Amino acid sequence: MELLSKTLARVKPSPTIAVTNKAAELKRAGRDVIGLGAGEPDFDTPQNIKDAAVKAIAEGKTKYTGVDGIPELKEAICAKFKRDNNLEYTPAQVSVSGGGKQVLYNALMATLNDGDEVVIPAPYWVSYPDMVLLAGGTPVIAQASVQTGYKLTADQLEEAITPKTKWLIFNSPSNPTGAGYTWDELKEITDVLMRHPHVWVMTDDMYEHLFYDDFKFCTPAEVEPRLYDRTLTVNGVSKAYAMTGWRIGYAAGPVELIAAMRKVQSQSTSNPCSISQWAAVEALNGTQEFLEPNNTLFARRRDLVVSMLNEIDGMNCPVPEGAFYVYPSISGLIGKTSAAGTKITDDETFATALLDETGVAVVFGAAFGLSPNFRVSYATSDEALKEACTRIQNFCAGMT
Ligand code: GLU
Repeated sequence: MELLSKTLARVKPSPTIAVTNKAAELKRAGRDVIGLGAGEPDFDTPQNIKDAAVKAIAEGKTKYTGVDGIPELKEAICAKFKRDNNLEYTPAQVSVSGGGKQVLYNALMATLNDGDEVVIPAPYWVSYPDMVLLAGGTPVIAQASVQTGYKLTADQLEEAITPKTKWLIFNSPSNPTGAGYTWDELKEITDVLMRHPHVWVMTDDMYEHLFYDDFKFCTPAEVEPRLYDRTLTVNGVSKAYAMTGWRIGYAAGPVELIAAMRKVQSQSTSNPCSISQWAAVEALNGTQEFLEPNNTLFARRRDLVVSMLNEIDGMNCPVPEGAFYVYPSISGLIGKTSAAGTKITDDETFATALLDETGVAVVFGAAFGLSPNFRVSYATSDEALKEACTRIQNFCAGMT
């Protein structure tokens, strides 16, 4: 009898985590590696948040909590949705999990039956399709193109929807492209959803606070209030508050859905870490003053990376609205051979050769469903970014 399940055989391990682990392994082995793979801020978690966690430990807040979050955090999340998104939720409509990843997974596990379809715009975050497969659903990929700034159009969404569609997974600003939908662009998407009342929207707003220039963030239930009853609004503290390791994500939506997600969590992990929850209360209720200076810094890094990559013949790097990623196309480099003799047949061979020959770790585009591209996370120091981009420039210049 086969040990492993047929469902697991349909999914792959997370490529973003694989690249991050490989870069860490090479570093430990003494290689000079610059990691632009992991999507995590290089900033430290703000001190007021750390202090709240230390206080929680000192006060013995170290026991089981309610399965999907402490009341204080649920209240803070409701206040955040009101303050930032003009959305009214009650604590019974809120679920807290071990990162945005678990929130999404719980929601898909709680709602998908065999054959249910989930529309996922590509380029997508690596885990969406595989989570859908794990939950027994069928991912339906709707390809966005560089011509629309990697944003899905209303027509593309319309085409992807069938009577079997249960969810659209929406993500803006996007991981991996950084593309952010304006209010008008999102309204076109929500207008399509209004024509298909059986389709729900799971919106991954993890990069809400990371945007640049004059971009204004908006979320589906805010843009189209009539979608409120079939929207799951997902967010978390990982990216904006530099809290990736604390593992706190949350969502708000209809009570019945939240109760179903709680059931999944009650039979899998129980509550997210009690100490991290108290830290998240402080993240959401405490000062938000560092967000703006962080964004100024990120915008400068984005501009540095975009300009250095666009100097490369054969590479095209659009300027994204948000997140901390860029997603250059390398179509002009496919078919060339690197200085060390590797034939660049696709974006995976490009990323592998780049790491082997220059020590720069990036994630190849096929992992995100649009090739030939690669993702750079620029959430690292200016010096490391300059050095990494110089190495990428030299690597490409050395190709024949
Ligand atoms: N979301 C981050 C990334 O895309 C973290 C790693 C992951 O869980 O995929 O790099």
